[in-house]
Amino acid sequence: MPASPLAFTHSVTERFLRYVVIDTQSDPASPTCPSTAKQKDLGRVLATELKAMGLSDAHLDEHGYVYATIPANTDKKVPVICFCSHMDTSPDCSGKDVKPQIVRNYRGGDIVLPADTTQLIRFADHPALADQIGNDIITTDGTTLLGADNKAGLAEIMDAAKFLLDNPQIKHGTIKILFTPDEEIGRGVDKVDLKKLGADFAYTMDGETAGNIEDETFSADGATITIEGVSTHPGFAKGKMEHAIKIAAAIVDRLPKETCSPETTEGKEGFLHPIGIKGELEKATVGFIVRDFTDEGLKEKEALLESIVKDVMKDYPRSTYRMEVKHQYRNMKQVIDRHPEIVDHAIEAIRRAGLTPVRSSIRGGTDGSRLSFMGLPCPNIFAGEHAFHSRLEWVSVQDMEAAVRTIVHLAAIWEERA
Ligand SMILES: [Zn+2]
Repeated sequence: MPASPLAFTHSVTERFLRYVVIDTQSDPASPTCPSTAKQKDLGRVLATELKAMGLSDAHLDEHGYVYATIPANTDKKVPVICFCSHMDTSPDCSGKDVKPQIVRNYRGGDIVLPADTTQLIRFADHPALADQIGNDIITTDGTTLLGADNKAGLAEIMDAAKFLLDNPQIKHGTIKILFTPDEEIGRGVDKVDLKKLGADFAYTMDGETAGNIEDETFSADGATITIEGVSTHPGFAKGKMEHAIKIAAAIVDRLPKETCSPETTEGKEGFLHPIGIKGELEKATVGFIVRDFTDEGLKEKEALLESIVKDVMKDYPRSTYRMEVKHQYRNMKQVIDRHPEIVDHAIEAIRRAGLTPVRSSIRGGTDGSRLSFMGLPCPNIFAGEHAFHSRLEWVSVQDMEAAVRTIVHLAAIWEERA
């Protein structure tokens, strides 16, 4: 990259404001892909904008994925890098009729959301606001989520693509763009065509605080306990009835209370977390998610769950249980560590963008964790989104601009070091 400072513009915010007003909420109850047809409304806009930039292969496919290629402008053999974001927003909070507001030159203190003044982004509850003094903060009017998760990422990738195309003096290899539907319902990469994408390495732009790169996720399993009790007429049940609902309740009650739950863990600690309970006298099921950073940690928690169940069942000798464990996803670090340059280059790019790089882990999964195990190693770079999945969601203009610079530098670094 030339030593002279690059003339970045402020167009990422315009893009962002254009995308957030398009409702793209996904729906876990829908069997289709994308789960909601409206996600394609945004997909069409993005594909059209990419085409208008001159990316002739840009298209929205029938499953709601957007693909595009920025051709290489170097003779060097450079690995093909992909930048990826998701188009859907969380089913937890409405994304219809989003009305963004920009708080210019933020001076600190609480931010009141205008259409529902009970919705306050409290300075005390959002420590990241302390780093935003003097910045321009985008929020909603308080009635919907903002959708910075992950439309900040979309806007940043789009803006960086435009910047690379307008500045051919910045040499880079082939860059792939991938926008996915349904990430928020865990199906973001179900129908991705990695062969068509043809990338060696990828980055999701879906992280929180500016400067962060995340190369570790949870490892995740789901567990279901099914209990068959003994049903009898309640008037004649003495000594006979074994109530499946009560057995299920006893199991939940015996889960560790001081450890091993989302509300008592942080950092690298895992948990065992009931997510659903359904039952009648005869039969009850309890669904769990199991999370840890290591496979051994998952196994320990699953063994703990089964030992609790066995213990409870001792009081119900004629009832039975079944425990099923389903693999969900694994810590992407197992894959990413085989290619240390992926994270090294990103750290250098973040530094060149003027930020202090912070390497961290995600207490959750990303599209990248699944992509990594599908053969496309994929850490997660900050997009600047905060308080996502809620009406208090916010992002700053300056953080989005820093993300655009990071993407541009990253493209250049892969060429430089090839
Ligand atoms: Zn996201």
